[in-house]
Amino acid sequence: MVRLKSMDLEALKEYLAGLGLPPYRGEQIFRWMHRGVSSFEEMSDLPLSLREKLKGQCTLEVLQTETVQISRRDGTRKYLFSLEDGQKIESVLMRYRYGNTACISSQAGCRMGCAFCASKEGGLIRQLTEGEMLEQVLRMKRESGLEIQHVVVMGTGEPFDNYRNLVGFLRLLHNPLGLGMSYRSMTVSTCGLIPGIDAFAGDMPQTTLAVSLHAPQETLRSRLMPINRKYPLKELMEACRRYTQRTNKRITFEYVLIEGVNDSGRMAESLALLLKGMLCHVNLIPFNGIYRNAFRSASPEMCRRFLRILSDNGIQATLRRELGRDIDGACGQLRSRKSMSLETGEGPKEGDKIK
Ligand code: SAH
Repeated sequence: MVRLKSMDLEALKEYLAGLGLPPYRGEQIFRWMHRGVSSFEEMSDLPLSLREKLKGQCTLEVLQTETVQISRRDGTRKYLFSLEDGQKIESVLMRYRYGNTACISSQAGCRMGCAFCASKEGGLIRQLTEGEMLEQVLRMKRESGLEIQHVVVMGTGEPFDNYRNLVGFLRLLHNPLGLGMSYRSMTVSTCGLIPGIDAFAGDMPQTTLAVSLHAPQETLRSRLMPINRKYPLKELMEACRRYTQRTNKRITFEYVLIEGVNDSGRMAESLALLLKGMLCHVNLIPFNGIYRNAFRSASPEMCRRFLRILSDNGIQATLRRELGRDIDGACGQLRSRKSMSLETGEGPKEGDKIK
């Protein structure tokens, strides 16, 4: 099947030209797809014969909504979708004062193996296509009836491990015949794949880059994030400096605060030293560990102390307000609890609203 939604407008027109169709058909179909229709039947201004023909040879890579959980605390919506081959992925729609943000997955599973992250369970299953990433945004927009102002690639998967599709997807989001989002409203988070960071500075210089740091020292970082053995902190920081010099953009460093692991005052001081003079912002995230995990969240006092030490040392930092904590907000938790509940027959827990 031909994946129409993964095509950019030029590729789509070219494909249709092969079927003997004029370029304006490409624009019509592109608009329909990006409006979020889930079948060719809905493309009402295409001749019936064309709709039939496309149906026979193309797919719209439509996602099926398995469950939607809506947080009673803050309105965060967490979606479990199934792909055409039955694989499950998750996406989240968060409501902030400055706009609604769609958090999407870039892979089914992940092969980075971070010690504290639920997404690694089962390893990497497969890459998501451009169309499957776009579909997550379109489905959530349609289902919620909300406009989406920001897209962050911070769900399951390592986006720079799926680089080509990622960049294709961001370009689709930007297309004025589609959602027409500005590149500045998009954020990509990486665990630190250096070749990806270098390429991204050239390909997407306006998009915000977030780098998951989680430790200010090589040994601890290698323990938490095995990727540090391939791309050590020292080289990662050099790549980040190259990135800011080239793009003039501030990097967001993410730092998950885990009790007794990386939340001490000494850690805060060495993080401040590591980042001194850099064009950056630190996003502190209390570890979200409601689902079987050996780690625990740093206490609110430790979180605030960590924040204060960074600020006192001139590092811009914020402590993330946690959204969706009552609905398995952290990466991979919904997907993995879902598969567990299938095994154990365990039902949804209180506070969940399951559609
Ligand atoms: N692979 C990319 C993007 C996905 S994760 C990356 O590593 O950046 C988005 C962020 O959530 C990462 O910083 C990740 O380390 C963090 N994260 C993973 N599990 C978490 C948990 N249980 N609690 C809090 N943050 C978590």
